[in-house]
Amino acid sequence: MPAFSAPIIVIGGGIGGLTTALALLQRGFDVTVCEQAPMLREVGAGVQIGSNGTRVLYALGLEAPLRAVQVLPPRRQLRHWRTGESWDWLTLGAASVERFGTPHILMHRNDLHAILVNAVRKFKPDAINLGMQCTAVTQTAAAATAHFAGGKEVSGAAIIAADGIHSRVRQCLFGAGKPEFTGCVAWRGLVPMDRLPAHLAQLVTTNWLGPHGHVLHYPVRRGELMNFISIVERDNWQVESWIIAGNSDELAADFGGWHHDVHTFIDAIDTPYKWALLARGPMARWSEGRVTLLGDACHPTLPFLGQGAVMAIEDAYVVAACLAKYPDDPERAFARYEDIRKERTTSVVRKSHENRAHVFSPDLADSGALANEVVQYWQQQHVRERLDWLYQYDATSIAV
Ligand SMILES: Cc1cc2nc3c(=O)[nH]c(=O)nc-3n(C[C@H](O)[C@H](O)[C@H](O)COP(=O)(O)OP(=O)(O)OC[C@H]3O[C@@H](n4cnc5c(N)ncnc54)[C@H](O)[C@@H]3O)c2cc1C
Repeated sequence: MPAFSAPIIVIGGGIGGLTTALALLQRGFDVTVCEQAPMLREVGAGVQIGSNGTRVLYALGLEAPLRAVQVLPPRRQLRHWRTGESWDWLTLGAASVERFGTPHILMHRNDLHAILVNAVRKFKPDAINLGMQCTAVTQTAAAATAHFAGGKEVSGAAIIAADGIHSRVRQCLFGAGKPEFTGCVAWRGLVPMDRLPAHLAQLVTTNWLGPHGHVLHYPVRRGELMNFISIVERDNWQVESWIIAGNSDELAADFGGWHHDVHTFIDAIDTPYKWALLARGPMARWSEGRVTLLGDACHPTLPFLGQGAVMAIEDAYVVAACLAKYPDDPERAFARYEDIRKERTTSVVRKSHENRAHVFSPDLADSGALANEVVQYWQQQHVRERLDWLYQYDATSIAV
């Protein structure tokens, strides 16, 4: 049992914050989660959890509820942006279990979020407090205090801020920072499977490679929905938020000249949402005394490897293990957590950035060049050489 009885305060009830809360509760800590939203909900979108992420979620006892809603992609394909020509590539799903011990799964974000909320509430029914927007953090030698809009304060032994890409706590501790616009905008939408023609309503993950954009669609929620994500080069939209609605005409215009199957998807989305992709360099430090950062708050990751949420999940396990090792010394625990996680997350952030050139580039405009890229870059052997280090990482057995 931890040496102190004051709670650990977790700011943010997203995937990172809730996984942290669960990992801490399982280790016997008292936890108070403070989430700014008035109700618990994730955005309507899919999320891929690679084997390195499911390894942690399974260790936290979530295998059974995940199985009830996840999709294991039996097949993955690459397609040419204009001709629609297709190539099979790296199978994940069941194949990832054989290779890495745990599967690569496809989820609706709301389903993953709900599983985490239920698991946290099983340990402590009133752990999650809503409508609590953190505005500042302060600390003394013995405690840390989070301050909230409206004047409330909550004190505890330590604060872990998983308050996302626009982290208020990061700003309090280290200043605002300067994100750089990548020149890319991401679109998202969900389509009921029964709204798609039979040849698209398949349990297949498809990546469309093209010259100035990328389209990815994969099934979620037991295959009842298809998640659509696209990324396009554009410089006239720079708002970094998941909740800004665009419209189908604008999305269709971004993919003018693309294969009609891409447009079938676009037409089937009721409301597409857009997000400008901004990049940030690695931070020198994440912690100050009894306060630390976690997930997108300290290492926001571009989506080109599908690993941002997974990094938050890995962080969560490690920070809880560090606090369990140094229960009466949060400062030391957070220093060790940073030590363990910094190199890993910095490489993932960097490699996600680099991977952009392989999912779209002007060189991929014609199908000969794209076929060549498939052979050079996307063959099983090459993909494994590039990605095994990512999926093999075991946050649950790191020596703290
Ligand atoms: C297009 C796109 C696709 C992606 N696909 C994938 C994928 O397939 N796989 C993957 O692993 N990652 C993916 N990611 C990345 C992933 O979405 C993020 O890395 C992940 O959501 C980070 O989790 P988090 O808990 O750190 O932050 P968030 O999910 O941003 O959660 C932060 C929480 O904190 C709350 N909050 C914010 N400010 C305050 C405050 N002041 N006070 C209290 N609460 C606050 C928010 O309301 C929110 O609930 C993708 C990202 C994009 C843009």
